[in-house]
Amino acid sequence: MFQKIGKAARDRLAKLGIHTPFGLLLHLPLRYQDETHLYPVADAPIGQVVQLEGRVTHASVTYKPRKMLTVKLQDGSGALQLRFLHFYPSQAATLTPGVKVRVLGELRHGFFGAEMVHPQYRIVKEDEPLAEALTPVYPTTQGLGQGTLRKLISQALAGADLCDTLPDALRMPLRLPDFASSISLLHQPSPDISPAALDERNHPAWQRVIFDELLAQQLSMRLHYQKRRARGAPPLPPRQQLGAALLECLPFPLTAAQQRVCAEISADLARTHPMQRLLQGDVGSGKTVVAALAACQAIENDFQAAIMAPTEILAEQHYLKLSAWLEPLGITVAWLSGSLGKKDKRAALERVVSGEAQLAIGTHALFQEQVEFRQLGLAIIDEQHRFGVHQRLALRQKGGEIHQLMMSATPIPRTLSMSYYADLDVSVIDQLPPGRTPIVTKLVDSARRDEIIARIRDACVQGRQAYWVCPLIEESEALQLKTALETFELLSQTFPELSIGLVHGRLPSQEKAATMARFKTGEIQLLVATTVIEVGVDVPNASLMVIEHAERFGLSQLHQLRGRVGRGATQSTCILLFQSPLSETARARLRIIYENTDGFEVARQDLALRGPGEFLGARQSGVAMLRFADLERDQALLDQARTIADRMLAEYPELAEQHLTRWLGQQQEFLKV
Ligand code: ADP
Ligand code: MG
Repeated sequence: MFQKIGKAARDRLAKLGIHTPFGLLLHLPLRYQDETHLYPVADAPIGQVVQLEGRVTHASVTYKPRKMLTVKLQDGSGALQLRFLHFYPSQAATLTPGVKVRVLGELRHGFFGAEMVHPQYRIVKEDEPLAEALTPVYPTTQGLGQGTLRKLISQALAGADLCDTLPDALRMPLRLPDFASSISLLHQPSPDISPAALDERNHPAWQRVIFDELLAQQLSMRLHYQKRRARGAPPLPPRQQLGAALLECLPFPLTAAQQRVCAEISADLARTHPMQRLLQGDVGSGKTVVAALAACQAIENDFQAAIMAPTEILAEQHYLKLSAWLEPLGITVAWLSGSLGKKDKRAALERVVSGEAQLAIGTHALFQEQVEFRQLGLAIIDEQHRFGVHQRLALRQKGGEIHQLMMSATPIPRTLSMSYYADLDVSVIDQLPPGRTPIVTKLVDSARRDEIIARIRDACVQGRQAYWVCPLIEESEALQLKTALETFELLSQTFPELSIGLVHGRLPSQEKAATMARFKTGEIQLLVATTVIEVGVDVPNASLMVIEHAERFGLSQLHQLRGRVGRGATQSTCILLFQSPLSETARARLRIIYENTDGFEVARQDLALRGPGEFLGARQSGVAMLRFADLERDQALLDQARTIADRMLAEYPELAEQHLTRWLGQQQEFLKV
């Protein structure tokens, strides 16, 4: 059927993403129009979209105040005026007195009585029949009219094999209608369906389509998950040596949440297929020690472990912390820094290849380039949300035959983790270590910047430490750098008595590391920084943070930054300086961060504000987004789709495959990289 469509129309369909007859069937109406009813002009409700019919009594083109075609209609009950600002001369020519016209539009009450501006209209014969049912209105593109689309879709409907991919035994308990009738109802509603019934997505026919879309996504993700389980990996069972020794040396006991996730990871590592687990935990919840314990389990099985971080600062911090923890236990840690000299780097790489180093730590970039292991058993990816969706998916799909632990402080709301992360196992640390005092967040207008600067100085003089975060300037890194330098100069000149440091992305990593170390020991009191300190930096004594132009940052970024303070026992404060006037959305975002300290809640509200596409940062990455389903609204259906997907794969594998092919075509991956 598709071959018979002309090239021009086919190109336009392609623009709408339609390439097959089934694609046409899934091109569902945006809304419906009620053309089943004619109102007398005198009784028609004002302010609503209504259909009326009358004879032209007068038509004229006027030029003041601007060119306009005015047409007067009379239907026996009253008069109606139509106004067109854009029209063709041919249009004006056909609307001559005596002609019968049927119009559909919003009825208003104008100066000259009832009127419609730019209604849809057509010239009709005597006793032209009314539509019997609602008329679908489709999303379309230039050059492809509603009429053509309707015709093509009804042809596709006539020729389609709409057999159900959901077996009755699974469908009945869900109380969902069958697929064929749902699709035809949405394209060609029967006469008894009222206009309001299909507007909301809770009509059973819509529910069925939404369910099928979610089911396709779940099937694709679960299939991925199963494929991975079919691959082999070295089992790394707990031998209770290194981990127990590490726990004994730590100055704190694990929280209950840390113990729980450690047990989950430990059990995964013991299995004969590769672990792919996402460890979620709010900023400061203590993920590093969990990573260290996982590494210990790999090492006590004579395998190597690797920890990758998105930035040098973070990688170095991990190196310092983990070597302090693990070297006393006899573990050799290799530090793979971009800033190492050629010779040192070669030596470090050598120790990894030979197996002398049991743990390697570095940035992800470095690992990708050149590191070879003697026998790698576990890869740990810290702050995985910092990697682009693209890299993240690549990492996930590459995975191979090693165990992977991904850690993230950007909490992923449940609906998202159930859909886009459904191929991963997830562990959550839902508790902070004891003794933390909640951070106080303040919103302050930039007009009061000087006042804030003075307050920061007083606090530093009294022995506290502070971060001053410079504004994010997305368009220009150079400009961002300039601002950071200027702020540093200004603060240094104003307060010669303070020891002030500066870190930014362009600094050589050695210098960056040295500055961070001096901040950590307390030698530097005030650290001026760009967002390089966003993730992971852990200096418990710092209890004050100022973020300039907070309105320019994303919410998860603000939450991450704020998480740099509040790590010790002292009361911490985060001051968000904003530039007024604030836009509506900026105001809404700042309110969320001001009112919430729980990262999950911030993420949930962020998702509600932005939608999953932007939240995932997936706009350009080609992640196939859901067309009909809305994860917030359709949570109940998502839960059902998840359960049914597992059952389909187990009990009806052929139907599962058919369903996937139908919805995703040959490309059976919901996540396209
Ligand atoms: P994140 O989850 O953000 O990576 P970290 O692993 O950096 O958090 O931990 C934050 C701080 O909390 C560190 O100083 C760490 O040593 C400390 N910490 C971790 N677990 C505990 C615990 N169970 N009790 C007390 N402090 C802990
Ligand atoms: Mg961390």
